[in-house]
Amino acid sequence: MSKSKGSTREMNLELVKCNKNAKIIDAMRIIDANALRTAFIMDENDRITGVMTDGDIRRLLIDGNGLNSVIDTVVNKEFVYAKQDDSVEAMMSKCSNSIDILPIVDDEMHLIDYFTFHDNKRLSLAIPQLNGNEYSYLMDALLSTWISSTGKYVDRFEYDFADYCGMKYGVSTSSGTTALHLALVALGIGEGDEVIVPDITFAATINAVIYTGATPVVVDVERDGWCIDPIAIEAAITPKTKAIIPVHLYGQPCDMGSICQIAEEKHIYVIEDCAEAHGAKWNGKRVGSFGIINCFSFFGNKIVTTGEGGMCLTNDEELDRKMRMYRDHGMKKDRRYYHEVVGYNYRMTNMQAAIGVAQVEHLDKILEWRTELEREYRDVLKSDSRIELQNDKLPNRDKITWLVSVLLDENKRDSVMKALKDNGVEVRPFFIPLSEMDIYRKYATGDYPVSLEISHRGINLPTTYEIDRSKIERIYRIIESAL
Ligand SMILES: *Cc1c(COP(=O)(O)O)cnc(C)c1O
Repeated sequence: MSKSKGSTREMNLELVKCNKNAKIIDAMRIIDANALRTAFIMDENDRITGVMTDGDIRRLLIDGNGLNSVIDTVVNKEFVYAKQDDSVEAMMSKCSNSIDILPIVDDEMHLIDYFTFHDNKRLSLAIPQLNGNEYSYLMDALLSTWISSTGKYVDRFEYDFADYCGMKYGVSTSSGTTALHLALVALGIGEGDEVIVPDITFAATINAVIYTGATPVVVDVERDGWCIDPIAIEAAITPKTKAIIPVHLYGQPCDMGSICQIAEEKHIYVIEDCAEAHGAKWNGKRVGSFGIINCFSFFGNKIVTTGEGGMCLTNDEELDRKMRMYRDHGMKKDRRYYHEVVGYNYRMTNMQAAIGVAQVEHLDKILEWRTELEREYRDVLKSDSRIELQNDKLPNRDKITWLVSVLLDENKRDSVMKALKDNGVEVRPFFIPLSEMDIYRKYATGDYPVSLEISHRGINLPTTYEIDRSKIERIYRIIESAL
């Protein structure tokens, strides 16, 4: 067992112990059987006097000792150990490249337990997956000296990513936030206009609307999908409404059928915020292909990352031209230093785009392992009725896995998060509803029963390639004991 409370690993401590008067061959047999690469060397009073690893044995043999050498005469007696009441952090800091298992002892050096680095390693919430051609394309961009915002990778990334989503034009940007702002500006949205946004989203969605001088109108989300509620959209439409920004939240596509129908009837633009759902589909069609302009983020924790970055997709040639102009300081394409509009510098660099091109190459693989990981989580968590999993069976919606997201009892949510954090598991609460924040409250004049419930109950769990079945079980044991 390990120091982590509630561990059900029932390794008999006897399997790690080896008498100090035994021979090297005996220690090898013990190490072979316990699969911990380690034996704790014990004296006749059952006190630990040394630690022997498979590496130690290898070195002893290289130095000329035989398999029958008595351990007590060769073992290194200066070994690292932990005390009973050391914290997990203290034990972690005693581990190193060569030490990944610590005996835990009482004041008389009796062995009480042991601690393994592997089982207690801090688990990150998100880690970018850069194991395709990211390194070689980035180096190629760097060595070519095209490190600013022109270069072959920018064009290629725009083409490849738009193509992946089934769209004609891609305009890369410096971030998801600037992509949203650029889309709104290119559509001529500004003062006097209203733009409908969901109550649960990352603040960039509403901030981009506010930058333009338009008035955001915050509406509630649906109970099943946690995304913007088409019924609430319909109720919020006024003659001033110019656009709706559906946010595909935590990998779940919005109900694009209803939303596009409403938008068409009322002659309102749809601008998708796809920052959390690269590759998700509604009715077999990828998100990013429903609105007039659709925006993505490539921030470090997103499904496709370029470090920082974003993109606007459109099928409209004129909007593509406008967005490029606004992105490049408002400069006329065929007349240098002649500025047609007050523009911005929202460009992506060739180095970021190089990473992006490589990311798109293995995007389907990235989505596959994420889906597989979520399946494992579901398998472990599904039997516990206190944990509500994100709905993955909504009609017409193929969600992808961004961050594995679950709802807990509202009164237990914060203590579960604390327990996870105390045990080295990085975890996030759901976004705070816009309607609960002072600076946005004036845009949120409706009722938000669903978003309040979901946001107060939700957490995101580590969704990285480090996580496997045993880590999920460890995470579940922590949640279970905190519940
Ligand atoms: C991450 C995110 C953004 C902002 O993207 P940045 O690239 O960080 O500017 C916008 N909307 C949503 C829903 C996001 O999750």
